[in-house]
Amino acid sequence: MRSYQRSSPQALALVEDHDETLAAACRSVVQRSCWAGWACLETPLPAVPGVEHDWQAAQLAQGPLRFVARNQYKPGRAPQGETLTLLAHPDWSDQHLEDEPQIVACRLLEALAQTLPPGTALPRVGRLGAHRWRFAHPEHSTINAPAPDGDYRVTAAGLALCGDAWRGPRIEDAWLSGHHLGLALAAPHAQPTAPGDSHDL
Ligand SMILES: Cc1cc2nc3c(=O)[nH]c(=O)nc-3n(C[C@H](O)[C@H](O)[C@H](O)COP(=O)(O)OP(=O)(O)OC[C@H]3O[C@@H](n4cnc5c(N)ncnc54)[C@H](O)[C@@H]3O)c2cc1C
Repeated sequence: MRSYQRSSPQALALVEDHDETLAAACRSVVQRSCWAGWACLETPLPAVPGVEHDWQAAQLAQGPLRFVARNQYKPGRAPQGETLTLLAHPDWSDQHLEDEPQIVACRLLEALAQTLPPGTALPRVGRLGAHRWRFAHPEHSTINAPAPDGDYRVTAAGLALCGDAWRGPRIEDAWLSGHHLGLALAAPHAQPTAPGDSHDL
């Protein structure tokens, strides 16, 4: 059985029997894992002194948690109670990759509780869970130092690859990569738009 652990985008499985150049490109991209938890609380998070009551997201440097989003404050959301997304650090996710989702969810919520001022309790939890993304995001971003091959891959065989793996770990990166590949395929003799050009979006 072939193993693709951490090595590359899942696209490797699709291209490796057909195009060694693309397969090698896939192998060069390391994908990191991410445990993503969610929690629906019965009442809002307690206020944190010095922080606006409707804060939308927080990044954390240490511990299991790296990012917390409060979904009820995202633009365009239907009215809802306190609904949290809890993303784990890549190193922590790798170390706990095979743990049970419910245990991971509890650890992430515990980590959030520890960021609150001492003596502050979390509200009661209505629903809690976690999902493991084994190939969540590329380890390296090429946004600030564009790779010589640009933010997609295409070969003479007519196969091509695009997505966040070739650019950076955000949805905009995936979109731009696909957009640039589309331009290149539609006008094969034209120079593809350079990654990061301000008129891209
Ligand atoms: C938990 C989490 C939260 C995130 N939050 C944010 C955020 O808030 N903001 C943001 O900008 N970005 C966020 N991202 C990153 C964003 O989701 C990705 O950058 C983006 O989805 C990448 O798009 P893509 O098209 O490159 O790959 P994907 O979205 O992964 O799409 C690849 C597709 O290929 C399919 N596929 C795989 N193998 C095969 C196969 N053999 N045959 C057919 N199909 C196959 C998969 O099912 C999938 O649908 C988050 C990522 C994760 C994991």
